[in-house]
Amino acid sequence: MEMKILGQKELNKEVREGHFCTGCGACINLCPYQASYRDQVVMLHPCDLKEGGCYAFCPRTPTDLEVLKKRLFDPQDLTPELGAVKGLFITRAVDPEVRAGAQHGGTVTTLITLALHEGIIDTAVLADEGRNLLPLETSVQDPASVKKRDRSKFVVSPNVAEFNRIAKEGGKKIGIVATPCQAMALAKMRLKPIPSYADRINQLNLVVGLFCGWALSWRNLVALLRKKTDLAEIEGMDIPPSKYHILQVYTKKGPLDISLEEVNPCVREACWYCPDLTAEFSDISVGSARLAEGWEEAKNWNQVIVRTSQGEQLLGLARKRGLLEFRDVPEGNLERLKTASMNKKRTAVRNLTLRSRDPENLFYLDSKDPVLSTLIKRPA
Ligand SMILES: Cc1cc2nc3c(=O)[nH]c(=O)nc-3n(C[C@H](O)[C@H](O)[C@H](O)COP(=O)(O)OP(=O)(O)OC[C@H]3O[C@@H](n4cnc5c(N)ncnc54)[C@H](O)[C@@H]3O)c2cc1C
Ligand code: SF4
Ligand code: SF4
Repeated sequence: MEMKILGQKELNKEVREGHFCTGCGACINLCPYQASYRDQVVMLHPCDLKEGGCYAFCPRTPTDLEVLKKRLFDPQDLTPELGAVKGLFITRAVDPEVRAGAQHGGTVTTLITLALHEGIIDTAVLADEGRNLLPLETSVQDPASVKKRDRSKFVVSPNVAEFNRIAKEGGKKIGIVATPCQAMALAKMRLKPIPSYADRINQLNLVVGLFCGWALSWRNLVALLRKKTDLAEIEGMDIPPSKYHILQVYTKKGPLDISLEEVNPCVREACWYCPDLTAEFSDISVGSARLAEGWEEAKNWNQVIVRTSQGEQLLGLARKRGLLEFRDVPEGNLERLKTASMNKKRTAVRNLTLRSRDPENLFYLDSKDPVLSTLIKRPA
């Protein structure tokens, strides 16, 4: 698939008006014309540039995933289901304080803190708690402040906008925690399609990706939760494995389980067209673990995919320093993860073809992609 570079007008028409915008933030802080406002990207001023970074970096403009993967990863590590895999691990933070605050095992917080401590990065882009469950993209330099920005926010945090903002200042070594769509935007930047932004992406030293099934639209989520509880009571939330079929909201009064029947209408529309579960364009990807003991134990651990030598070195250092505890990966976990990843790709392909009514039209994805093409239902 040809990776075209067009401008803001086409970005608006193809992505924003087409409801494909993931809110990743890659088109923000490149110019003064676009901004993020309450979970939406808003156009402040029209731009007549024919070729913009906004279009080139957007993860929802046509992208040749094969080219991206082959350029950015060791070809011998590439798998059709999960992208590059150097290894799969089960880990958690050794520090009980990190574990207590974290979403699952605190592996992300541990890795980012270590990377700052060791000077692998000097700035980390993270998601902070904003008002009324609206995350706030932020950057920190002090390793001790990483753990204050832990836990998952299930509304998109435009972290790539913050990357763009600080990279513009120059001279940094940046690490970022990114959802799969954000990691894809950064991968597109790494190909340097627009030379004037090459200096910015050269400052990216580490991408810690999060597994991501879907994110929620802020407005819809808040409307749903206001019917159930006081927003000020909410301390966090999680999505247990699919067999539970719930969003679990942690409140000061105890957990509140909401059926996915009620939650599904709150999912950001773009997420139904998203093919990436495990942040395939990261150095290292982290999600919740699956263990034989069940979810109550598994939720205190992480499943980690190492994808690049940068990711491998960082995880190795965390082990050497005694910061992460490792346990054996249960037999069958890799295969289960591959199946889950392919299921997300299958859903995206199905939803895209339902929308286009043409099996060869996957909008921003390539119907000839060697992985996705196997998932298209073509008439016999
Ligand atoms: C929208 C969303 C959907 C997810 N879906 C799944 C899923 O289906 N399956 C699964 O296994 N895991 C999923 N995760 C990942 C999971 O919730 C944990 O983030 C992951 O297991 C890491 O746990 P941890 O204890 O190491 O994280 P922590 O140590 O608590 O660190 C979490 C880090 O993520 C950053 N962060 C929080 N929210 C966001 C955000 N919205 N965007 C970018 N960065 C953020 C924080 O700043 C922090 O650095 C999802 C995460 C998000 C944000
Ligand atoms: S770059 Fe990200 S935020 Fe901007 S239009 Fe594309 S998906 Fe939306
Ligand atoms: S499901 Fe995909 S599009 Fe939605 S937030 Fe996660 S990575 Fe982004």
